[in-house]
Amino acid sequence: MANKAFNAFEMAQAQFDKVADQLELDEGPRELLRWPLREYAFSIPVRMDDGNVQVFRGFRVQHNDARGPSKGGIRFHPQETIDTVRALSMWMTWKCAVVDIPLGGGKGGVICDPHNLSSREQELICRGWVRQLAKNVGPLTDVPAPDVMTSAQHMLWMLDEFEHIHGAKYPGFITGKPVGMGGSLGRTEATGFGVIYTLREALKHLGLRPEDTTASVQGFGNVAQFAIRLYNQLGGTVVCVSCWDQTDQKSYSFRKDDGVILDDVLAITDRFGGIDKDKARDLGMEVLDGDAWIEQEVDILIPAALENQITAETAPRISKKVRVIAEGANGPTTPEADAIIQQREIFVIPDFLANAGGVTCSYFEQVQSNSNYYWEKDEVLGKLDIKMTAAFLAVNELSVKRKLFMRDAAYVIAIGRVAQACRDRGWV
Ligand code: GLU
Repeated sequence: MANKAFNAFEMAQAQFDKVADQLELDEGPRELLRWPLREYAFSIPVRMDDGNVQVFRGFRVQHNDARGPSKGGIRFHPQETIDTVRALSMWMTWKCAVVDIPLGGGKGGVICDPHNLSSREQELICRGWVRQLAKNVGPLTDVPAPDVMTSAQHMLWMLDEFEHIHGAKYPGFITGKPVGMGGSLGRTEATGFGVIYTLREALKHLGLRPEDTTASVQGFGNVAQFAIRLYNQLGGTVVCVSCWDQTDQKSYSFRKDDGVILDDVLAITDRFGGIDKDKARDLGMEVLDGDAWIEQEVDILIPAALENQITAETAPRISKKVRVIAEGANGPTTPEADAIIQQREIFVIPDFLANAGGVTCSYFEQVQSNSNYYWEKDEVLGKLDIKMTAAFLAVNELSVKRKLFMRDAAYVIAIGRVAQACRDRGWV
């Protein structure tokens, strides 16, 4: 395996196969769920600001919709591939199932780097993406949302294009919209807060008090920022964060032993979560290697960036002090690293459980949009906490009862529900 290039979809299939074996899943559901139901790959020509046309590659993958319309974000990333989108769409199926919301799994992407695109060019990519898919997505079939490097503004452009094409208002077509334009209060916070709701329950289970713990966070985008905010509110101290540096084309970690002050760091951060190194030094932060976040002597690691970060190479560098890994990102840990973590008895809150707060709030947003009645923020976050806590407790209980690794316990519940829906519909 050592020299083999990382492939997220092979990893997602390997995770699935392991649990399908444990569940003794029949051949029918096994073959159906190992692959997406539908895939779209297309070109988006864009007249750039300099007058030239550039063609971007776009994707949408609908992994499964037995439990409801496909649901999942759209990523803008220069390294996007059909296989990352396939993997992410499969993880969305399990994510919606583990929190028991009536949605399936999908994911989309465009190969592009928004750092180098004007707002107008990004708008044209959004509109072009919808034009290619207008007949294959919609409030009753497949509902997109924000993800890596896409925001509420991108969602609104996409909604506007969809409504132009279909000639009516369909606010339930997409989630993560701006508040006041069909968006839900609390949606921006939801993924990061959800990570901390599950972390809070994990700490309770382990007999640890949040105020006695420290954490190191990989990433400083939307998920990381709101996870840090709520973890701080519970009394926890974040001593290290990391981020991608667009100028140097590499990442850095930023350490402050007495605790990173979130608002100070936010004031020196760009809209992609990039922290200004010089200004960080002025704030008394040490600037370290990109990987340094993983070897900090902390109680909690929160990978909240991209997939394939905790690997066979990096996992051995995790400090002996670490008790919990709460996966804010999708697919941050490879199966080889899982084996190391499991053997070290570190408590893992797996990605598709820990970061399910985003899609759970998206579901609440759909409900609000479709009924054109909007809830107060406390109501949204209260319902989110209840849903996330219930999902965590169910997975943890199964993990204890059947002596399963947390990731496997979450998969057993999720795959079980989706396979049952496929059987009940008579598909397999
Ligand atoms: N992109 C987020 C995720 O990976 C949210 C998806 C959604 O809200 O549909 O879970």
